[in-house]
Amino acid sequence: MTYCLYDARGYVGDLASVHGLELISDFATRVTNEPQIKKFFQEGQAPITKELIAGFKAIHSSDKNIADTIDNLVNLLVKCDTVAIISDGTGIESPDLTIHRGTHEIGGSCVELCSNSGNTRLIIDIGMPLVNADRSLFDWGAHRKSTMSELRSEKILPAVDGLYENDKPTITAVLLSHAHLDHYGFLQFVHPDIPIYMSMGTKALTEVSNTFLNTGVKLDRVKTFEMWQTFRINEFAVTPYLMDHSAPDATAFLIEADGQRIFYTGDFRGHGRKGILLDKLTKDPPSRVNYLVMEGSMLGRDEGLFPDENSVEQALYDLIVSQKGLCYVFTSSQNLDRLVSIYRATRRSGKTLVIDLYTAFVLDKLGVISHSIPQFGWEGIRVLYSYYHAQKLADLDRALLYKYKSAKIEFEEIRDNTDNMVLLAKDSRYFRNVITKLTAYSKALAVFSMWHGYLERGNLGEFLESNGIPITEIHTSGHAYIGQLQMLADALKPRWIIPIHTFYPEKFKEMFPNVIQLDDNETISLC
Ligand SMILES: [Zn+2]
Repeated sequence: MTYCLYDARGYVGDLASVHGLELISDFATRVTNEPQIKKFFQEGQAPITKELIAGFKAIHSSDKNIADTIDNLVNLLVKCDTVAIISDGTGIESPDLTIHRGTHEIGGSCVELCSNSGNTRLIIDIGMPLVNADRSLFDWGAHRKSTMSELRSEKILPAVDGLYENDKPTITAVLLSHAHLDHYGFLQFVHPDIPIYMSMGTKALTEVSNTFLNTGVKLDRVKTFEMWQTFRINEFAVTPYLMDHSAPDATAFLIEADGQRIFYTGDFRGHGRKGILLDKLTKDPPSRVNYLVMEGSMLGRDEGLFPDENSVEQALYDLIVSQKGLCYVFTSSQNLDRLVSIYRATRRSGKTLVIDLYTAFVLDKLGVISHSIPQFGWEGIRVLYSYYHAQKLADLDRALLYKYKSAKIEFEEIRDNTDNMVLLAKDSRYFRNVITKLTAYSKALAVFSMWHGYLERGNLGEFLESNGIPITEIHTSGHAYIGQLQMLADALKPRWIIPIHTFYPEKFKEMFPNVIQLDDNETISLC
């Protein structure tokens, strides 16, 4: 059995085996009269005083084992707050961690932390799966009409007692890391009395999805947090960290409970427009993280041709500036980094970016997080109105239709200026119609600026080909490369690493010596 050193905030480091502990205890109490050292070994704990550390430093042994063990002890003691405790872990309070879904898959993330007292239960992320149990694609459309008990019995909703609308609520709060459906897609089923914490950007995008996708989430109980500002939820202290990801305002959480410090990364990377956030986090990491729950989406995936968002912007520019005729760019309107890259590449080439009404609304809502997000009123941005989007906005607030009108562009203006236009496009019936009509007037090319897997799933490629439109893929991943995962783990120096959000959790063990690989719904005590 290994003994460890703890302090008031939890685990500090490994100390010695039972045998090693007896050895230094016997030796130290024999050769010194320092009362703090006697207290430390006799009672298993002592306040951290200069005398304790100075007393150990004054002890010299010719036995290398004893000398090394004392050195190690001194190195740990200097890191301790107020009280140092020698323990094998028994009697130390420990919260429980359960990953309800996500130990062996990307998507459907749902993590629970329960305090030692059992009085506080937090859920972090409540995502919709991307795949079924057999790894075939998950199709929400096939389940949309199911009742909540059907969804629970079919194991589509994670098995969490006290979370859902038809339960007595015993979950204290839900925390969301970011607005991707695989992290928040089942929010609509959460009991309306349970508060939900998220960043302002995540809230803005959740509201947009409510408007356009009728997600039915009740957002009146949402509490927004400020990045790097610690807040308390009963026994838990939560510190949100802004992370670089393809969703804006994505958050990692440092959660302290019962003296344990858990860092949940959410989805992150270090090669987007906010890549500097990963550098900052690794240069000035939170101290003494006991458990790192880290995403591993890129394990088993190709890193692709474009290493970062800057190279994406450059490739887009090279293509757009040399294009005679229309340029369609297919991307997600909620990938803010990519929208900025497309806008910058378009402006540098002196052309105009045409966005749809939905994208204009997304950018407008995200204005709450930054003034440097391109907006409908900016030079070189025009807005294309579709009946469907206009109807959705009018249902929410008729004034929104007029808000964006100054930037409105008609089909004829695009048709007559095809050499100077870049159209942000979606694979929808509306856009297929627009593209088919414009094909009669201009040659065109298409850029697919999303994960390659999405292109394989539909028949967009065939549709474009039938219209004589060549397609080029320009994309960089929203997720951390293996080197970036290692960089974060090296900086945080957690006692244990727990894989999540990966199809290959076993690969973590090839990269790190201290991995706990869990199964879905398995509960461990963090101590
Ligand atoms: Zn994500």
